[in-house]
Amino acid sequence: RYGLQTRLIGSKIVHFNVTGSTHLVARQLAERGIEEGTVVIAETQTRGKGRLGRKWSARQGGIWMTVVLKPKIDPMHAASITLMAAVSVTKALRELGLEAVIKWPNDVLVNGKKICGILTEMSAETDMVNFIILSAGINVNNEVPLDIATTARAELGHKVDRLKLAQSILEELDEDYATLREQGFTPILWNWRRYSDTLGRPVEVTYQGEAIRGIAQDVDDAGSLLVKLADGSVRKIVSGDCIHLRSL
Ligand code: ATP
Repeated sequence: RYGLQTRLIGSKIVHFNVTGSTHLVARQLAERGIEEGTVVIAETQTRGKGRLGRKWSARQGGIWMTVVLKPKIDPMHAASITLMAAVSVTKALRELGLEAVIKWPNDVLVNGKKICGILTEMSAETDMVNFIILSAGINVNNEVPLDIATTARAELGHKVDRLKLAQSILEELDEDYATLREQGFTPILWNWRRYSDTLGRPVEVTYQGEAIRGIAQDVDDAGSLLVKLADGSVRKIVSGDCIHLRSL
């Protein structure tokens, strides 16, 4: 258990030196009924994926991991798991001294650059979630090939203990997930708002082929973004694969 102080997250840990994608491995395990809290972690991934099959760079030195969750929530509220994970990662990065903030719905940024990407995928019936596969890629001491990305080492100016950071993220996640199960999404949302880099700002969201411009006003109890348009009306943007948000 790698010294983890958790109740549920990390109940089982599957570690790889190299794998194609921890997300895909975890999905296969979940389909075969592996227990909730299982963590799949790899030193490097050869086929890391972002949304819409976009490539995710996952070199040695970063944290590439996936958690299997089985929350008793309405499938319509699945985005709350993505937002929760962003809160957990942000808290752990802040403990290191990084000024991490959240860009709705699935990125954690430091100095305007992406330090962590979160990807969730759900298997559900009409009114019940079977499982959620929650992946987080955190740039720690690894090289990043893009100038839109940064790493903990680059921002702090020194190497970071990757194992300790992974533990801290999983412990925060364990706590936040317990809160979500016991008290629902509302207390998580308070923290999300505190760390949000999106709320209160002018944004442009590309949603179902349409460019929507307005002020990001709030996030609702399903994790959807509420954007106030120039005419005063409010549009609800449901988090999902085809959304692109940029600050104006
Ligand atoms: P958007 O830019 O539309 O908000 P996104 O931030 O949700 O997209 P994802 O699709 O989740 O991005 O992730 C894939 C994208 O992340 C890639 O297209 C690439 O630009 C970027 N990326 C890939 N590897 C890394 C990495 N290690 N760190 C930061 N960003 C990365």
